[in-house]
Amino acid sequence: MPKFVYAFAEGSKDMKDVLGGKGANLAEMTNLGLPVPPGFIITTEACRTYLEQGHEPAELAGQVDEHLAALQDAMGKRLGDAADPLLVSVRSGAAASMPGMMETVLNVGLNDESVPGLARMADDERFAWDSYRRLIQMFGKTVLDIDGEHFHDAFEAVKRERGTDSDLDLDAVDLRRVVDAFKGVVAEHAGREFPQDPREQLDLTVRAVFQSWNSPRAITYRRQEQIPGDLGTAVSVVAMVFGNLGPDSGTGVAFTRDPATGAQGIYGDYLANAQGEDVVAGIRNTLPLAELEQLDPESYRRLLEIMATLERHYRDLCDIEFTIERGRLWMLQTRIGKRTAAAAFVVACQFVDEGLIGLDEALRRVTGGQLAQLMFPRFDADAAKDPLTVGMNASPGAATGAVVFDSAAAVSRAAAGERVILVRRETNPDDLHGMIAAQGVLTSHGGRTSHAAVVARGMGKTCVCGAEELDIDVAARRLVGPGGVEVAEGDMLSIDGSTGEVFLGEVPVVDSPVVEYFEGVLGPDDEAADELIRAVHRIMTHADARRRLGVRANADTDADAARARRFGAEGIGLCRTEHMFLGERREHVERLVLAETDDERSAALDELLPLQRADFIALFSAMDGLPVTIRLLDPPLHEFLPDLTELSVRVALAEERGEPDAKDVALLAAVRRLNEHNPMFGLRGVRLGILVPGLFGMQVRAIAQAVAQLRRDGADVQPEIMIPLVGAVQELQTVAEETNAVLADESRRSEVPLDALIGTMIELPRAALTAGQIAEAAHFFSFGTNDLTQTTWGFSRDDVEGSFFSRYLERGIFGISPFETIDADGVGRLVRLAVDEGRASRPDLKLGICGEHGGDPASVHFFHDAGLDYVSCSPFRVPVARLEAGRAAVADV
Ligand code: ADP
Ligand code: MG
Ligand code: MG
Repeated sequence: MPKFVYAFAEGSKDMKDVLGGKGANLAEMTNLGLPVPPGFIITTEACRTYLEQGHEPAELAGQVDEHLAALQDAMGKRLGDAADPLLVSVRSGAAASMPGMMETVLNVGLNDESVPGLARMADDERFAWDSYRRLIQMFGKTVLDIDGEHFHDAFEAVKRERGTDSDLDLDAVDLRRVVDAFKGVVAEHAGREFPQDPREQLDLTVRAVFQSWNSPRAITYRRQEQIPGDLGTAVSVVAMVFGNLGPDSGTGVAFTRDPATGAQGIYGDYLANAQGEDVVAGIRNTLPLAELEQLDPESYRRLLEIMATLERHYRDLCDIEFTIERGRLWMLQTRIGKRTAAAAFVVACQFVDEGLIGLDEALRRVTGGQLAQLMFPRFDADAAKDPLTVGMNASPGAATGAVVFDSAAAVSRAAAGERVILVRRETNPDDLHGMIAAQGVLTSHGGRTSHAAVVARGMGKTCVCGAEELDIDVAARRLVGPGGVEVAEGDMLSIDGSTGEVFLGEVPVVDSPVVEYFEGVLGPDDEAADELIRAVHRIMTHADARRRLGVRANADTDADAARARRFGAEGIGLCRTEHMFLGERREHVERLVLAETDDERSAALDELLPLQRADFIALFSAMDGLPVTIRLLDPPLHEFLPDLTELSVRVALAEERGEPDAKDVALLAAVRRLNEHNPMFGLRGVRLGILVPGLFGMQVRAIAQAVAQLRRDGADVQPEIMIPLVGAVQELQTVAEETNAVLADESRRSEVPLDALIGTMIELPRAALTAGQIAEAAHFFSFGTNDLTQTTWGFSRDDVEGSFFSRYLERGIFGISPFETIDADGVGRLVRLAVDEGRASRPDLKLGICGEHGGDPASVHFFHDAGLDYVSCSPFRVPVARLEAGRAAVADV
């Protein structure tokens, strides 16, 4: 017979799947000998069965009978006993903590007959009636689905008659009238009487908890957090203890230690003479937990002892709920406590120092996402006081600027050199220009998968969304915030994408000390270094010692390369050469495109050669001793030429004036010739190298000459030449032949041996599928996962991110954008295949990844598992990649 009910003594913290997080930890505390009121747990399996069959499993009632009997024996009280009733709470709790499910119902078991008994036992008539009215109210709202307003109104009516607005002024007689009124509300709105049978109360509440698994709020939350929809929730039934029995009673919540300082017993709130939910509801001001030491030294001492026991046992920071009933302490909940990014690092190291965990475990307990948060510039804490409002923290960072209400204003003000914050009710694809121009984006509608949030994250732009207290009037060019505060276009606003806070005016931004640490400006042993810096240093050092993946940077300039190196990059995984063809160098490209003879073409290339050589010398010098992967030109040539429309107009106007410009006319013809419907799939990458004679040769010559010069000067240069967009080994062979010839030629001239690795990007499905062949001509592969994602899915990133992606995320078609985290099932499968077949044909094949996924935590774990040699990412993300590579290495130990 399936077991649907567990006594606390039968469970443990490792049974979350069966007992839910709350139940499993109540069981664990019970078995630790901590004072937990007795109770039992109905399993998630019972819930699943209920949801599948539409009724409780047949065995459930009998098993509840049994455990209820045991509970009654343990308490020496019976449910519904008129003389001394047992009351219980009925609490939901899934394996993962999940808001949106049914709230807890307290005082279940109380009825007309047993109220006097409870009053007598507690020697407090007011308390008994207050407990009863709470039960009817909670039961009515959560089990019978009655709008809370009706109870509120009935309550207010009694208070009005009594001439007071505080429920504390109501006595037992008044509360008894409230109970009568509440019963009337139930009869009127639920079409039935409030159930007097305690067992029926219990069964209906349990069923309501089951059903709440599929409440719309719960479903939305699960979709956002990617929690499977078929797990179900457990239900804990716990004997009531009362914090509202007078001044020597109370209830509180706490963290076992202050996450920032590690001090015990000072991080929590306490409310005397109150029941559990009063603390969260904020009906009265709570006391700092430390003051309990004066109120009730014995309970306080006991609480600290329990905190220490919990920490030793869970080997982590916990949060707890407790209640004191007439001087007796009861534990009602515990779990591993949520913490800020800074606290995660600090606390992990404290636990290492206390000998409770090792450094591997400390490394597992911090995330790349937390490190990234610590690296964003932030608002100066002293200046950022009271926010105007708080929305959702959709994309981190601290941005400040003048408010604009549409994209046109954003673009024009930004063009004039102003910093702006784009404020919209919600954004759509038409807002893209404005978002690009703005420092940050603020919306009043939509959640973390709204258009604004998705696009802003993709651009690495600060975003706060869903700030619903803001009333945005685009036509009037102003917004109205809480308290009627008005903000007009042009007024300054500051938004914190890490906290969701919105501030009036310009809040000063300060650099993160963690970045100063990575920059080498702030050493861990410096006086100015605090506990956080020391913790980051300690954990990063351990991550570096543990990781198997190398970490390189994507850097195009010597300045970027130098910063990447300070951040710990072990080379450059991708140097794009296209920026070397921009700016003043465009005219050389134009000449190259317009060349009609071989001589004209090589003349244009000869002009580019020394410029490129200088670029490479700077880059190789910054990376002396480390490998540098240079990708030959990738984008289509027309990207370096004037815009087709602009040029057409210029030529037409000149012709009208009767002064045609021969060069413009020729250029226009070339632009027309090179114009493509789908540039992403057009003449680019290796195709360009094959079609434009001498182009790749010139780039290779510039690399060779730079290497020769530096090697002669004694530098340790490690060049790797990378051919983009290869789909067939023949393409690579063609270019590799030319490359080798140029290297040999330069080596002869300079009398310096010029070995260089020649490899390719894998960014087309065909390249992955024929990786075995391609590896015969390549020393290395570097997965270009941006293009590989585009070409595998068949959509262009620029076109889709601003259009249908947010809808796909809302619908759950994507859990996360495949441009943010590698699509392991599809794109990832191609990666694994190419790794296996590439290595099979060339065992010493070097394998890396240089798409933006190289700095994404989840993707780094994937690349570790896939067996790559290194990841390469933007310089700023290098520390995150190092940390995650270390975490991947200790993940399965
Ligand atoms: P949540 O998941 O919202 O924290 P809980 O099930 O923990 O819901 O309960 C809500 C409040 O009721 C908490 O403050 C809790 O401490 C209190 N509570 C729950 N069960 C009992 C009980 N048996 N006796 C006294 N207070 C309780
Ligand atoms: Mg709780
Ligand atoms: Mg590419």
